[in-house]
Amino acid sequence: MVGNVVKYGCVPSAKKVMGRPLVRVGVDIDLPLMGCIAFGVIDRGTNLIQVRPVSYCPLSCIFCSTDAGPKSRWRRAEYYVPPDLIVEWVKALAKLKGPHPVETHIDTVGEPLTYYPLPDLIQELKSIPNVKVVSMQTHGSVLTIRYASRLAAAGLNRINLSIDTLDPEKARYLQGTDWYDVRKVMEVTEWILRNTETDVMLAPLLLPGINDEDVEEVIEWGKRIGVGKRYPGYGVQIYLRHKHGRKPKGIKLMTIKQFHKLLKHWEAKHGVKLILSEEDFGIRPAPAPPILFRVGQRVKVRVRAPGWLRNEWLATPVGRFEGARTITVIDTGNALEVGSKVTVRITHNKHNIYLSVPT
Ligand code: SF4
Repeated sequence: MVGNVVKYGCVPSAKKVMGRPLVRVGVDIDLPLMGCIAFGVIDRGTNLIQVRPVSYCPLSCIFCSTDAGPKSRWRRAEYYVPPDLIVEWVKALAKLKGPHPVETHIDTVGEPLTYYPLPDLIQELKSIPNVKVVSMQTHGSVLTIRYASRLAAAGLNRINLSIDTLDPEKARYLQGTDWYDVRKVMEVTEWILRNTETDVMLAPLLLPGINDEDVEEVIEWGKRIGVGKRYPGYGVQIYLRHKHGRKPKGIKLMTIKQFHKLLKHWEAKHGVKLILSEEDFGIRPAPAPPILFRVGQRVKVRVRAPGWLRNEWLATPVGRFEGARTITVIDTGNALEVGSKVTVRITHNKHNIYLSVPT
């Protein structure tokens, strides 16, 4: 199984990943890198730019909000974007930010470590004049000391490590994966903190009723190994139900207010900072590219590729904005195919992420 994981990261020439078609954006097909949540870049109007070079993941976490991994029920395609194309788009966005120092955060709807040119991408992002920080989000499943040293040498400033328990058996259960080795992830994390300039922020996901005590153990482990050298050491997340996400058995849903109360209690109990704001990361408002289509607007598009979820297609506008935005078309009537031209109505446009339905 681990062999397959390595393969996902190393063979971008593959036509399929986990049985699903692999769309290599900019290789098989040209699609704008802005507009779709599953790949490319996302600019939410701050000096942080989200970077999504790959969509797939070798794990199948029982709580995954993006329904990633081999056990996915909703996904129908996966995406890969070459580093030079990502860098081109990030350069243009970073220019818009004026004098603001920019953070690029490689987060993805899957696992960034499966992106085989990740060190090259980090190095290229760091070479953009006002990009001061490159960070990434990971569950660390395929992290090794050799891989970590390459990421650090490329200039990775921070890893936001999703680690939801320190118990190996429970970790295999939570990650829905029998080969996942949390001890190995811990060992490499400790090595990173001892031997590199890369900082680590622990970002466990609290699943109330399932891993409450485990999250406290993660916090205590973080204190022992010295996380948060230059950034906050902890970014505890709370499980929220998502439409196509997975819902673990036995979860007790918690409101944001209850979660904050618990974090306050843990801050006092463990003596660490757990309640964070964007300012803790130097995140502030900054100019963003214009929204090109308003909600309710009718737009003529051409279908270009399968969407990342069932009943979805990726399309580009016909005409002058063809190269500017990707639009997801939700087609429950199964009437579309690649090459179809159709008029759609925009239903969502927040942060230049576009959803639409055929009219
Ligand atoms: S590692 Fe992340 S993307 Fe992958 S299955 Fe788990 S939660 Fe989902």
